[in-house]
Amino acid sequence: MAFDFDLFVIGAGSGGVRAARFAAGFGAKVAVAESRYLGGTCVNVGCVPKKLLVYGAHVADELEQAAGFGWTLEEGHFDWGTLIANKNREIERLNGIYRNLLVNSGVTLLQGHARLTGANEVEVDGQHYTAEHILIATGGWPQVPDIPGKELAITSNEAFYLKDLPRRVLVVGGGYIAVEFAGIFQGLGADTTLLHRGDLFLRGFDGSVRTHLKEELEKRGLDLQFNADIQRIDKLEDGRLKATLKDGRELVADCVFYATGRRPMLDNLGLENTGVELDARGYIRVDDQYQTTAPSILAIGDVIGRVQLTPVALAEGMAVARRLFKPEQYRPVDYQNIPTAVFSQPPIGTVGLTEEQALEAGHKVQVFESRFRAMKLTLTDIQEKTLMKLVVDAQTDKVLGCHMVGPDAGEIIQGLGIALKAGATKQQFDETIGVHPTAAEEFVTMRTVTR
Ligand code: FAD
Ligand code: NDP
Repeated sequence: MAFDFDLFVIGAGSGGVRAARFAAGFGAKVAVAESRYLGGTCVNVGCVPKKLLVYGAHVADELEQAAGFGWTLEEGHFDWGTLIANKNREIERLNGIYRNLLVNSGVTLLQGHARLTGANEVEVDGQHYTAEHILIATGGWPQVPDIPGKELAITSNEAFYLKDLPRRVLVVGGGYIAVEFAGIFQGLGADTTLLHRGDLFLRGFDGSVRTHLKEELEKRGLDLQFNADIQRIDKLEDGRLKATLKDGRELVADCVFYATGRRPMLDNLGLENTGVELDARGYIRVDDQYQTTAPSILAIGDVIGRVQLTPVALAEGMAVARRLFKPEQYRPVDYQNIPTAVFSQPPIGTVGLTEEQALEAGHKVQVFESRFRAMKLTLTDIQEKTLMKLVVDAQTDKVLGCHMVGPDAGEIIQGLGIALKAGATKQQFDETIGVHPTAAEEFVTMRTVTR
């Protein structure tokens, strides 16, 4: 049977665009359907605008430090409207770049909602298209618990387009997004409380990192409330919101921001017309080559719920393009030692096993841990401490994990990701010459076993 396309991609986000461009580059006839925004979550309501707001919030730190370096500044004034307008302009520029990337690689771009009508057929705005392979790359969507008044709360999607910076914000959740946005709101001047249902936020991160960040955020005056959860939200007559907690306490704020995880985006996707099955958590079930239970349909990125990070979606998109159209270049995605950063203030950088995971996996572990005041702060009154930690296998000397909380942690951890991928030992870390004077050199000068 002759198909309209070799590959039909649903979703022009991180994974979809990568797969489409490379498949077209390998000579395939490719279409992409996108219902909302080119570049997907990361470009429009994720990594990119988030990082721009983090930079904006970080300016407050620089201003606070300025006096120690001899600068006298007029009292600063922050304008949310300017930051959001400038951010929007940059996102529009990126949307244009994504459009050009797709069109210039020969991909047919269809703007509209795509719905599967069969194992080899997709409908976009009443038009039907056939394809030998279909790739579902529809990403995820914020999930808010079903409590009375949940429609009064916002999520990251809306936060990027708020008209004004709220004066008082309640951030709910203890994952990446909650911690990052608590830092953004607080850094930009909002009175911010973070409410998390557990004992401590960032479950799954190294214990020292979690505790250290908690202490640093508290030093900055962020109101952290653990074992706290909202039962209902009501609107007050003056327009503000009243959150009633499960323990009966009432908190009043201008904005309640939920970051309690994301669900796969499967709305009106037509999976019932195919043999595609979901896993126990509701994500699309795929095998190790991203094939769903319908052989002509593949899925990648957040919608398969493995690791919800842009570089992982990119790697999966690349793997699919190669497997289908350049099999001699196919290499499976390596899910070990994925470096990642949480852009909190201060940020976290981490790669490899946490101390807890290493012990659980049966390693005999040596831990090297260092806490110090960064050189830049020595001329200021700021008492913030940086944490660096190495988790080492005592028998093989292999470095199993590197963890950091402190300025530029995301930048520093990228290089350590390469070292861990190469299987570096602690001795090789020790024999690496440091870059002086930097904070990063601490990773090659830690000699004393902490535990
Ligand atoms: P997406 O990028 O979500 O793309 C899916 C696309 O499919 C969307 O454009 C959507 O409109 C479209 N679509 C959905 N259904 C249909 C349909 N039926 N028809 C047509 N089109 C459809 N990751 C990082 O690595 N670093 C970060 O700093 C980071 N920060 C983040 C901050 C926030 C606030 C959020 C929410 C996420 C962040 N992430 C970050 C995660 C990252 O954005 C995602 O992992 C990544 O975007 C997933 O890519 P994807 O291709 O799976 O899906
Ligand atoms: P996460 O899954 O990271 O965190 C969700 C948080 O919400 C957890 O603390 C969880 O608590 C809590 N939670 C879940 N359900 C409820 C509930 N019903 N009531 C109260 N609390 C609840 O999700 P995020 O939304 O923060 O982010 C989604 C993903 O996007 C991340 O996992 C990450 O992969 C990606 N991302 C990456 C970023 C980066 O690379 N810098 C930045 C932002 C997002 P508990 O621990 O108890 O389950």
